Amino acid sequence: MGSSTLLPGVLAWLCLALAPVQAPPLPFEKAGHELLVQVEQRRPKDAPKPDGVQRRLAALHTRVRLGAFELWIPERVLGEKLQSRAGPPVKEFAQLAQDLVKLEEAWIDRMASPSSDLAKAHDAIAVLERWTASFRGNVVPDVTPEVKAAVEVLERHFFRRLLDERTFAVTMVVAPTRAQYLGLIGAAAEIEKELGAGLCIEFQRRASSAQLVPGMMVLAFTGIGDSERANPLKDRELDALELRQNNVHASAHMLSIWCTPAAPGWWGEGLALCDTIAVCGSDETVCTGHADVQATTPTLGSGSLLEILLWVTRHKSPYRGGASATWFEAPLRAAVDAEGLKVFDLDKTEFVARIPATLLGEKAAIPGAVVAGGSGAKKGFAELYRAWCAAFVHWLATNPGRDDSLLNELCRELKQIPWQPGMARNPLYEVAPTVTRRTIGASDAPDKDLEAAFVAWLSKKK
Ligand SMILES: [Zn+2]
Repeated sequence: MGSSTLLPGVLAWLCLALAPVQAPPLPFEKAGHELLVQVEQRRPKDAPKPDGVQRRLAALHTRVRLGAFELWIPERVLGEKLQSRAGPPVKEFAQLAQDLVKLEEAWIDRMASPSSDLAKAHDAIAVLERWTASFRGNVVPDVTPEVKAAVEVLERHFFRRLLDERTFAVTMVVAPTRAQYLGLIGAAAEIEKELGAGLCIEFQRRASSAQLVPGMMVLAFTGIGDSERANPLKDRELDALELRQNNVHASAHMLSIWCTPAAPGWWGEGLALCDTIAVCGSDETVCTGHADVQATTPTLGSGSLLEILLWVTRHKSPYRGGASATWFEAPLRAAVDAEGLKVFDLDKTEFVARIPATLLGEKAAIPGAVVAGGSGAKKGFAELYRAWCAAFVHWLATNPGRDDSLLNELCRELKQIPWQPGMARNPLYEVAPTVTRRTIGASDAPDKDLEAAFVAWLSKKK
């Protein structure tokens, strides 16, 4: 498997887009080496070296099985001087464990098949909610027979089988320090050399999460400090809500990529935003994991509309400051009029361009006015696009299809259609007319097209 296919989705795209950015020597290798020494120390004498990143690094963690997800908590962590110390008590990860269970709940109905027992799956969620709420001490509470049975119900629901010890669910690994975060990336690159080029890069050093291999992601629990270039292992404490939203948003992407791997990137972005809003009440994340757009000087090059997300910013955006809590409805209504969508220039704080209100079709590209515009227009369009994806997905979730919401029905058709490189046509655009009798972003007629119906809803005076 080539390294580009190892990292599906928006996060992956962002990493690759920024790969050429050069920086001072990056401390991945040293920190990774420290972790691999620990892995070796824990290997029983005469036991063979486990193969693969996930099997090797499992030795350093307590694995908490939660059904679709498993949460890895490090038993020891690296500090700023790469010294190893005991890992934090499990209570520090109770919030994340509870949030992962909530994310699974959001996908229960979306993953239903004719043989699914949805009531049983929702009951299993309730059991895990109670169990993860009891993560109040130093160690993970006992896995009672009730908890074990609930995990099995959810494994059957999501994977259609039980997972044995050597098989991993969607794995979220916590890194309580920057050194641990960089160390896990460095160790993965050491175990599978071809990963290094995509992982050991400036973008990842600064980011808040990193996918190591498909289905396995590290979440950084601290941010980079002010003097991060000189002291890249120094930790900056994150605001609790910011940390929670970062973790939930990244985990939502991971689950969505696993459940509907072939869905378009904007679909994954919209779902990650909606699921984060459902769990945390709002989503103020930036896709790069660090808010300073200028520090990475993104360039538009590949022609993909998703690359505009590199310009996402929190500054002066009408789509921030709580707008996510209501799925951006008010600022989007303000942007829509009979002639299309108004793009707000965040540097000049004024509307600068009007673009067609079709952003989600198969052939949608970054509008020419935005490509030609200055950084304010790019930032404004990035914020608009982010909000648009989320609001559209939420609209699908709140509008009925034949038997269930449009969103659930589309997810059920998309689930497990494999992602293939170079697909001529994204399967969503095949599935939508069959399931909903409407296209996406292909016409201006609300009765024939879902995005047009969404625009008609936004344009309606309230
Ligand atoms: Zn995202």
